[in-house]
Amino acid sequence: MATRTIGKVGVIGCGLMGSGIVELCARRGLDVISFEPTQSASDTGRGRVQRSLDRAVKSEKLTRAEADAALGRVLFTTDLDSFADRELTVEAIVEQEAAKIEVFGRLDKIVTSPDAVLASNTSSIPIMKIAMATARPEYVLGIHFFNPVPVLKLVELVPSLMTAAETEDRARSFAVDQLGKTVVRSKDKAGFIVNSLLIPYILAAVRMLDSGFASAEDIDNGMMLGCAHPLGPLQLADLIGLDTIKAIAEAMYEEFKEPLYSAPPFLLRMVEAGLLGRKSGRGFYEYT
Ligand code: NAD
Repeated sequence: MATRTIGKVGVIGCGLMGSGIVELCARRGLDVISFEPTQSASDTGRGRVQRSLDRAVKSEKLTRAEADAALGRVLFTTDLDSFADRELTVEAIVEQEAAKIEVFGRLDKIVTSPDAVLASNTSSIPIMKIAMATARPEYVLGIHFFNPVPVLKLVELVPSLMTAAETEDRARSFAVDQLGKTVVRSKDKAGFIVNSLLIPYILAAVRMLDSGFASAEDIDNGMMLGCAHPLGPLQLADLIGLDTIKAIAEAMYEEFKEPLYSAPPFLLRMVEAGLLGRKSGRGFYEYT
C-alpha cells in the first residue's frame, strides 16, 4: 500500500530550528501551523521566517511571488488547540526533557487524527522518554533536522522501541519525497548518530581553547584548512548555540556517564554569561 502524503503540518517552537522547519514545509506547499507560547515569541518567529524567505529571494532561489505564497501557507498562533487536525507535528522547543514531556502530554490530548505522527526535533533526548508522555507511543519518533534547515540535506530518523513501522514509513516518505531530504536511521540512544560524533569534538575544541593550547581562530582554521571542514568547531558551536550544545552534552552525559560528553566549566560560564553564539550576538566570536 502506498504511504499517504502529509498535507497538514504543525511545528511547535519557532526559534532557530522551528522557523527553518516552518519555512521548508511552506516552501514545499504544505499547510503549516507554527506555535509559540507568547505573541511576542510568535512575532519574532514570523520575522525569522520572513527574513529567511527574503534572503532566498535576494539570492534568486525563490521569486517574490513564491516567497509570499509560502508565507501565506503558514498560520502563526499561540493556540495549541489549533493543532487538532495536524497529520504530522514536529516539536522544536528548547532542549529540555521536562519541557518536551509537557508539550507531548498536551499535544496527545489535542491532536484528534488517530494516526497522526508526533515527532521531536530533539538533538539528544531519547525518544522513548518523550513518547511515553503520550498514550500513543507507536506514533512518536525523532525527525532530527540540521541547521540551516532549508539548506542542509540531512534528516536523522529515530524510531523508539515503541514506534510502529507505518509511522517510520510515513516520516521517511515525508522527509525524502516531500521535503527532498536524505535520511539516516539511528538507534534511540542520546545524541543519535551525528551528535554522538560531533559533540565530543566540539567539547574538545572548547577545552583546547580554555587551556591556552591555541587561539579560537587557529583551532577553527586548523580544521577548516587542514581537514576541509566548512566551519571550524568553535564557529559551528556559535552557529548551533552554546546553550543547545550544553543541553545536548548534558543529555549525553546523563545517558552514558562518559567524561568526553561532560560540558567543560568554560562552556558553562559562557552560557551563564548569556554568551550563546550567533543568536545572542557573542559567543567564541562577536557578531554585529
Ligand atoms: P531556540 O532556542 O532557537 O528556539 C527554541 C524556541 O522554542 C524558542 O523560540 C522558544 O520561545 C520556544 N519554546 C520554548 N519553550 C516552549 C514551549 N514550552 N512551547 C513552545 N515553544 C517553546 O532553539 P533551537 O536551536 O531552535 O532548538 C530547538 C530544538 O531543536 C532543540 O531540541 C535542539 O536540540 C534541536 N536542534 C537544534 C539544532 C541547532 O543547530 N541549534 C540542530 C538540530 C536540532
